[in-house]
Amino acid sequence: MKFKDFCYFLDKIEGTSGRIEMANLIKEMFFGLSKEEIDKAIYLLQGKLLPEYYGVVLGLGERFAIEAISISSGYSKKEVELLYEKLGDLGKVAEELLEKRRQFSLSRTEMSVREVYDRLYKIAVLAGEGSQTLKIRNLAYLLNNSSPLEGRYIVRIVIGKLRLGVGDATILDALASLKTYDDKEKRKEIREDLERAYSLCSDLGEVAKSFFAGEDIKNFKIKVGKPLLPALAERAVDAEEIYKRLGKCGVEYKYDGFRMQVHKKGEEVLIFSRKLDRIEHMFPDIVESVKKLKQKEIIFEGEALAYNLKEGKFFSFQETMHRRRKYGIEKTKQLYPLKLYVFDLLYLEGEDFTKVPFIERRKALEKIFPLSNLDLSHFKIASSPKEIEEYFKEALEKGLEGIMAKDLKAPYKAGKRGFSWIKLKRGIDRFLDSIDAVIVGYYFGKGARAKFGFGGLLVAVYNEDKDRFETIAKIGSGFTEEEMIKFKKMLDEIKVKEPFKGLLYKEKPDVWVEPKYVVEVVFDEITLSDVHTCFMEENNGKGFALRFPRFYRLREDKDVYDATTSKEVYEIYLKKFKH
Ligand code: ATP
Repeated sequence: MKFKDFCYFLDKIEGTSGRIEMANLIKEMFFGLSKEEIDKAIYLLQGKLLPEYYGVVLGLGERFAIEAISISSGYSKKEVELLYEKLGDLGKVAEELLEKRRQFSLSRTEMSVREVYDRLYKIAVLAGEGSQTLKIRNLAYLLNNSSPLEGRYIVRIVIGKLRLGVGDATILDALASLKTYDDKEKRKEIREDLERAYSLCSDLGEVAKSFFAGEDIKNFKIKVGKPLLPALAERAVDAEEIYKRLGKCGVEYKYDGFRMQVHKKGEEVLIFSRKLDRIEHMFPDIVESVKKLKQKEIIFEGEALAYNLKEGKFFSFQETMHRRRKYGIEKTKQLYPLKLYVFDLLYLEGEDFTKVPFIERRKALEKIFPLSNLDLSHFKIASSPKEIEEYFKEALEKGLEGIMAKDLKAPYKAGKRGFSWIKLKRGIDRFLDSIDAVIVGYYFGKGARAKFGFGGLLVAVYNEDKDRFETIAKIGSGFTEEEMIKFKKMLDEIKVKEPFKGLLYKEKPDVWVEPKYVVEVVFDEITLSDVHTCFMEENNGKGFALRFPRFYRLREDKDVYDATTSKEVYEIYLKKFKH
């Protein structure tokens, strides 16, 4: 496909907001793509070159993009900057200036999706001395060959600001409708197979590629080295509720550290975070222990916590988080020794364990662990609500945040939140509950806060069915002075003139920001609201909002799509009437 035609679709998608309409446009676009370029087109559509865990990121500084626009359009850097100030979108700047470019390259050629992708890849991986100049030159080359519309998208992609609001779910819809036309049942089945394949490799490009190549998507295989999407837990209010849902079940301590998905293939060890970033370089101590395992090929999961050897107890979550760092690893390794509490087995010596009932997975784990700092999560079988309740109390006495109850017969449901795992947590306060929400904007402070230029956050949750974000609260309390300063700085780096596409809102903050950070917010209850848009369309035009929302902590381990969903908020709301 010509890149020009690809951009025609991007432009259409940009002007569309419904999930169904977007999926239809994407499907139309897919018809024009070959099996060699489908993966690349999907990555570009999401403004990236590969899944994040490959670590190949564009995000070229705006300064460099301005220089490249200047070279290819013939306008001075000053002129480019002035127009940027006016439009607030470098993509639009490139488009406008390429439309009235002052200099024409004699050798302009039409580019294919593949050519643009390859050149962008080159820009991303160029490193070392002189690489900045080369990056600018390569970008200028692309812009020289671009039409104004192509320029708009190339620039947005290189600076990491494409933001078409196309989530994974919408792309899966488009793929599923490709070969099944109007047969609803068939489409549903293929959609499920595609989703399962995606949950086993976390790589939409790879799934689409094998689908396009006519491979049997039903039999998509786990590959050691490619992360699975993590299984997620539902919440319960008490032991009774857990027992009602699961009956006799497995219960484990819920450790409050960070999740690790560990892959071992021979001597090679990879570790993925909950967001599926590669993190093994931060944890040489864990890597060393994993290398000692006899098993040649294994994928397992656990929660890592710093353990205070002297006092014989865990460090807090905040202290544990010191271990997630790029520098000073050796020193922090001594200060905060880690223990990994292994709680699940996903793959072992060629066998896909995600299909195996939990109790069997646990038994297999017990044959492998503990081994040095790789411990097993504490586990027992509970046969009554009383036993669950007692186990919960025991966990709290040990300073843990709660328990996880697990369905003994359930397979591992990659990428799904479900009742196979149920968490029961100590409230942050006895009366308060919490959700994870995405920051979409902030307010300037008034009164005593004016000096920080920060007075609070506007936050949103994720509506999975609609593939969009919906606001749920304006948070004005819970911030320390340091946090206010930090937020102001962090958020100014990602401020945007317009709210991002894919946000449904009524309430407007002073400054809009890109969806990047997730915060945990505590509140006392969910109420109906005319101002917030959470679940509004499903609830006859009344949104849900948090009453007395208070900032609790930043969740750097979560991606924006891992935020609490609008439907979960609705379920929390309903619980109020049940108990
Ligand atoms: P929370 O916000 O409650 O910490 P979460 O939103 O990060 O949870 P959930 O799926 O809701 O994710 O809760 C499960 C999380 O609890 C897992 O992601 C994992 O990191 C952690 N965890 C701690 N102990 C266990 C355990 N024994 N079994 C499974 N997960 C555990």
